Amino acid sequence: MNSALNLVNVSLEYPDGGSTLKALDGVDMAVKQGEFLSLVGPSGSGKSSLLAVAATLINPTAGLVVIDGQDVSALKEAERTELRRDKVGIIFQQPNLLPALTAVEQLLIREHLRGNAVKEARRTAEDLLDVVGLTAAMLKRPHQLSGGQRQRVNIARALMGSPTVLLVDEPTAALDHERSESIVRLLRRVTDEFRTATVMVTHDTEFLPLTDAVAAMRDGRISRASVPSAQTS
Ligand code: ADP
Ligand code: MG
Repeated sequence: MNSALNLVNVSLEYPDGGSTLKALDGVDMAVKQGEFLSLVGPSGSGKSSLLAVAATLINPTAGLVVIDGQDVSALKEAERTELRRDKVGIIFQQPNLLPALTAVEQLLIREHLRGNAVKEARRTAEDLLDVVGLTAAMLKRPHQLSGGQRQRVNIARALMGSPTVLLVDEPTAALDHERSESIVRLLRRVTDEFRTATVMVTHDTEFLPLTDAVAAMRDGRISRASVPSAQTS
């Protein structure tokens, strides 16, 4: 297994009244370093559940989650938290930034809370904001940024810990077409540059050619995996 992220026969059941609801049903998935996989499927098919399990936020009912060679289910809670912090970057639809903080402070808050030296981290934060095209906006607060810029801050923040795995849930759902495309292109570039194993849930089928492979979900299963057709632009 030389994949950065491996799901092996993963199932997840949620309690549902007196019975259970199977959100994931025997899912297999392998994503290598530098690979960008898109995940599509109807609402309720289990895409977000799959990301939550891959992010180690939820334990699967059955099956294996392996990140960077480590079997997550074998870890204690505290070790899992540490693995998540060190190896997993998570990007949700809504950037969830703190209103009072500047862009650069959004990236530093976790270091700060952990009592780490912020000086070194500040350099990393500034470099990352540069990568996502926000050099001129480092000292702006969320209300001074556009939706696309806020999502860029979110992406830069997810990269702060040099994650092995980058999990992205509908990053463009709140954005217009042009901004959506630039966000997906940015995720492509970040995946290439930082060699992350990136999984992106998306409804924008037209951007699939920017990714390396497409997995389609239905009723908690991966029903199809394919290589997207040649890039058109
Ligand atoms: P998607 O992201 O593809 O829309 P989800 O992973 O959110 O799908 O949901 C998959 C199934 O699991 C749906 O039937 C949903 O209602 C159910 N579900 C999701 N989260 C929970 C939860 N926390 N508790 C109970 N059921 C849930
Ligand atoms: Mg979802």
